[in-house]
Amino acid sequence: MAHRKKQFLSSLAFFALACFLSLAFPVLYPELRAFYAPPEKELPRIYFKVPVLCFHDLDGRGPYSVSRHEFRSYMEKIKEAGVQVISLRELYEAARQNQFFQKPSLVITIDDDYTNIVRVAAPILREYSYPATFFVYIKDIKGSPEEGMSWEDLNRIAGEGFDIQNHSFSHTKLSKPYPGESAERYRNRIIKEIILSGKVLGERVPSFDRFSFAYPMGYHNPQIAEMLKKEGYKVLVTTDSIPLDLRQPFTGTVHRYTIQKKFVKDPEAMFQLQLKYAREQELASP
Ligand SMILES: [Zn+2]
Repeated sequence: MAHRKKQFLSSLAFFALACFLSLAFPVLYPELRAFYAPPEKELPRIYFKVPVLCFHDLDGRGPYSVSRHEFRSYMEKIKEAGVQVISLRELYEAARQNQFFQKPSLVITIDDDYTNIVRVAAPILREYSYPATFFVYIKDIKGSPEEGMSWEDLNRIAGEGFDIQNHSFSHTKLSKPYPGESAERYRNRIIKEIILSGKVLGERVPSFDRFSFAYPMGYHNPQIAEMLKKEGYKVLVTTDSIPLDLRQPFTGTVHRYTIQKKFVKDPEAMFQLQLKYAREQELASP
């Protein structure tokens, strides 16, 4: 009996000690309070920087070119980094409403490459279910698929959901007259590059809607931007390598990072930097 009583008393003492410790510890060691307090509801993260990538030729030759293999490996790296690919239109909608993304995001655009956007880029992008905007200029679009990239090809990929947008009529520098070019000739050239190109695209690609214009070789000035806005273009894209910051008011201009080999020291590091921008995050405000 005495043994039982002793056992009872010692468990009582143990229980009292446990109670004391659980109450005293958080007071004595405030840093331990986190273990006792119910976890605070975590605020969602927001991603506010969106890099826009600009690819060119996919034949692996020029300084702005990547091979088919390299293009696929870029797509894979985006996937591995957990970065979602959104369309330029989704970016525009978020930007004009100053909304943020719940996931790291980036946009893919491809300029110029007529032979390979349909035959190389589009199939790889389809495989990853990545949206993309293709900026094309009118002069080199062929009449039939046998001659190169044709209107028929463009309409086919537009039907698959890719966005075909304007990259001028003949890919000339829009920001100023060429040496010896008269004011009148310059004006006519600009009209052709900006207005006629949009008209032809609208006639040949019925889904085209004058949403975005990519400045040929990236040259731009405020007058050209004004003219493009008057024509109805909502997103003017440059090659000025700054990710879009959704915390800033939207100006209508979106800069892009050009994937390139020759003019950057470490192309891979530059690409990784874009992924890093996409992953910058903040806690959403409560
Ligand atoms: Zn171009």
